[in-house]
Amino acid sequence: MIFAIDFDGTVVKHKYPEIGESIGAEPVLRNLVKNGHQIVLNTMRGHKTHEGRDLLQEAIDWFGKNGIELYGVNETPFQHTWTDSTKTFAHIYIDDSALGCPKTEDEEGNHYADWKAIDNLFKKIGIINTVIV
Ligand SMILES: [Mg+2]
Repeated sequence: MIFAIDFDGTVVKHKYPEIGESIGAEPVLRNLVKNGHQIVLNTMRGHKTHEGRDLLQEAIDWFGKNGIELYGVNETPFQHTWTDSTKTFAHIYIDDSALGCPKTEDEEGNHYADWKAIDNLFKKIGIINTVIV
């Protein structure tokens, strides 16, 4: 399956334009890929949006540094063969702003995606079969 996954507040804590602290997404995302799924980064970060910094590349690099293969960035590679829509095609979307996204809160009251709950959902509906390494 193809997963479109937001960045800020979803795979890391909200700290835009900086990269936020880890919230435990890395092993879950690595395990998704190991189970044959594909991840498309689905973010509002852009290539030239903050004091000359390439904030999109910084997010892409976060995946590389964490050993998480990306299938696409802000679009699924083949989607333009059948649509001219700018929406990212995916089977499942994970976004801290989405209604129903499991979320948790840190001691400072910041909300972000709850990857333990997301991982449990993956196992419950059979998306992941192996143990997280
Ligand atoms: Mg977000």
